[in-house]
Amino acid sequence: MATFGPRRGEQPALTPANRRAIPPVDMQRVEQPPNGDAWRDRARCNSARRTHDPAYDGVFFTCVRTTRIYCRSICPSVHARARNVFFVPSAAAAERLGFRPCLRCRPETAQGSPAWRGTRTTVARGMRMIDAGFLDAHTVGELASRLGIGPRHLSRLFMKHVGATPVDAAGTRRVQTAKRLVSDTNLPLADIGFAAGFKSVRRFNDAFQKTYQRPPSSFRGTRA
Ligand SMILES: [Zn+2]
Repeated sequence: MATFGPRRGEQPALTPANRRAIPPVDMQRVEQPPNGDAWRDRARCNSARRTHDPAYDGVFFTCVRTTRIYCRSICPSVHARARNVFFVPSAAAAERLGFRPCLRCRPETAQGSPAWRGTRTTVARGMRMIDAGFLDAHTVGELASRLGIGPRHLSRLFMKHVGATPVDAAGTRRVQTAKRLVSDTNLPLADIGFAAGFKSVRRFNDAFQKTYQRPPSSFRGTRA
């Protein structure tokens, strides 16, 4: 006898709020070749950055030790020597290690994503919920319980696949959202801070200082 719908245990129980927080899966990304672990393959990443390979945009980020800046695979800047670079799987991972986003390739806007982003894995679902602002209003413990695992297990999974904790990922997302709004709109800065999920103007300013070593206002009208 045929059964319809997801089999038992295949899908998590989604609450209505949770359902809204998770955008539909982009099937094209799921089919894309480099898998979520491609960033671990140093030789492959090095050749991808030399050829500005767009297939790797967002799959790995290049951290340049000499400048403390991180870039996308497609960055048009002059290439740093191979011995001065290493690769990480997310912008949050680079920032966690103290690297600043390159102002030329703007890695915070990388369109591509690691393959795991389009999957139903716990990390991918967690990342989508964070992208939707879940951690602006909830704790990591609440995120973990929505995903059906313990908070420590969630942090371990994130460190392994994203190279950063859920809190780091949320922080990076907040700054990225705010920077986009500052450069692309005329909204007042204070409104932008709150819209992006910051709890106060001071935290908004501090986060920009830490990430870019520049105040939010310096990005006004810099839309590329
Ligand atoms: Zn760059």
